[in-house]
Amino acid sequence: MLPIVIIGLGVSGLGCALELAQHRIPFAGFEKEARPGGLAKSEDAGGFRFDYGPHILVGAPAGLEGLFRDLPGLDLKVCSGSSGVVMDARLERVIPVPFQRHLNWLPLDVRVRLLFEALADRRNGKAPGSYPEYATARCGRGVYDLFLRRYDEKRLRFNLDEIPAEWTNRIEKTPLHSLVLPRVLADWFGRRNGESRFLYPRSGGIEALPRAMARLLPANSVTYGCEVTGIHAQSKAAWFANGAEVRYERLVLSLPLPETVSLIRDAPPEVLRAAEDLIHTSIYVVSFGLEGAVPPWSLLRVPGEEWGFYRLSFPSHYAPGAAPEGHSAVVGEISHHRARYPLSARDARKELQKGLEGLGILRRGQRIVVETMRDIRYGHVLYNHRTRASMRVILDYLRSHSILVCGKYGAWKDMPIPESIQSGMAAARETVGARSREG
Ligand SMILES: Cc1cc2nc3c(=O)[nH]c(=O)nc-3n(C[C@H](O)[C@H](O)[C@H](O)COP(=O)(O)OP(=O)(O)OC[C@H]3O[C@@H](n4cnc5c(N)ncnc54)[C@H](O)[C@@H]3O)c2cc1C
Repeated sequence: MLPIVIIGLGVSGLGCALELAQHRIPFAGFEKEARPGGLAKSEDAGGFRFDYGPHILVGAPAGLEGLFRDLPGLDLKVCSGSSGVVMDARLERVIPVPFQRHLNWLPLDVRVRLLFEALADRRNGKAPGSYPEYATARCGRGVYDLFLRRYDEKRLRFNLDEIPAEWTNRIEKTPLHSLVLPRVLADWFGRRNGESRFLYPRSGGIEALPRAMARLLPANSVTYGCEVTGIHAQSKAAWFANGAEVRYERLVLSLPLPETVSLIRDAPPEVLRAAEDLIHTSIYVVSFGLEGAVPPWSLLRVPGEEWGFYRLSFPSHYAPGAAPEGHSAVVGEISHHRARYPLSARDARKELQKGLEGLGILRRGQRIVVETMRDIRYGHVLYNHRTRASMRVILDYLRSHSILVCGKYGAWKDMPIPESIQSGMAAARETVGARSREG
């Protein structure tokens, strides 16, 4: 019997491989990089350790507790940190997240206005047609304008009105107590703050997670440094940059969906056309290793247009080994897009330094001793109003040719690491089910 072939060994491909191994189904996994992990990798630079993109594991990953507990060599620690939304140019007004639950940190006149707007939006029971309508229905027009709109415009660099309501279901509702209760009481209600408690490996950076997952796989079933360059869906064959070819029973892919489509040599025109509706925004991840300390935040969201970055992370507060003694690390995420919002890596780096100085995080005389830059092409997965229908065309075609996709970029759906792992596992279970039905 031909094997199940897994292409891409980031966390979702690894999740798929682990599940197949558990069911004793023969598989062959291929990864173009020299080691597993995909975006959940870490790199050492001059005594600092930076994740490819700053990663934390938020919340108890439902259904993955056992895996996370038992993975050999993985020791996850529960971290507590503070995350906030920067409301001014000097870090004097930082509202804890979730923003919607800490509105009583805002001045009274702003809260009164937000309260009236939230009540008005609640009365309007129309089904939302776009992302702004969905977000407004969840948190009120005022909250949307004050934070989410400005943050998402900068984070996505895309016209928000073109995004359909179903793109996300992650917007928190505004609880009225956050507008009417005094801060001390509301803080008590608001303590259930996802980002204030999270998991992170005690050593090795976020990469400790995929490394531990890969350790459980039979060595002869995975090949690194092996890039797929073409797929023939009809004949169920994939071939590689080194000229090798494999035949498969089923193929599971976690590379970005537009790339999967472009690899399929016999993809019909309607599938190629549908792939044009898979929209993305790229992210520069710029990491600085600094002399001295940084403010106590673990993560800051920065909606204001005066600074180019939308998010700052301070891994030296939660990631053991992120910075040597007497030093700290700060990471900025800056969105761009080749056509919609072109920005060079050099300018992104300048933006970060200028913004850190402006916010008073990088103080006069404080030296940047190490820096790294990463350009994540498919950083944010986006939908326009046609994407859902186009996805159906693509996924139906793939499935009818025994090709499954998984993970945030493979399935083209906003997913954190735990969900990406689970989607790889679900793809594996689907192949197991299909096998047993086919006898
Ligand atoms: C900036 C940023 C910050 C994030 N922060 C968080 C966070 O704090 N917490 C969280 O839970 N999630 C976070 N995420 C999301 C998280 O990174 C993803 O959910 C997860 O990494 C997706 O894993 P994956 O295996 O599906 O995809 P990937 O990690 O992209 O893996 C795909 C793999 O396919 C390989 N590949 C690509 N092309 C080929 C080819 N032709 N042949 C062979 N192999 C190929 C790649 O090398 C890669 O290893 C963040 C994402 C970004 C971009």
